[in-house]
Amino acid sequence: MTIQEFQQQIEQIYFDRDAERGVDGTFVWFIEEVGELAKEIRREPRNKERLCAEFADVFAWLSTLASLLGIGLADAAEIYANGCPKCRSTPCIC
Ligand SMILES: [Zn+2]
Repeated sequence: MTIQEFQQQIEQIYFDRDAERGVDGTFVWFIEEVGELAKEIRREPRNKERLCAEFADVFAWLSTLASLLGIGLADAAEIYANGCPKCRSTPCIC
């Protein structure tokens, strides 16, 4: 699945509900999910399956937020296609 396909999939599942909630409310949900990821990272012992699920949730909320603001995540990712956006090197030498 490409980043663009992921964003389209998340739009098909959630866009209408998220559009109704609006950007501000959706941003709060996104931050809540980031908090859940933080908890999972700190949990010992780490569990890859639960970590993976939390990463998926954060990515989904990031994606829906981008959609609400008219941003394509694949376009955003392109900013890093040629290395560090500041020094253009891989690895970064800034
Ligand atoms: Zn750099």
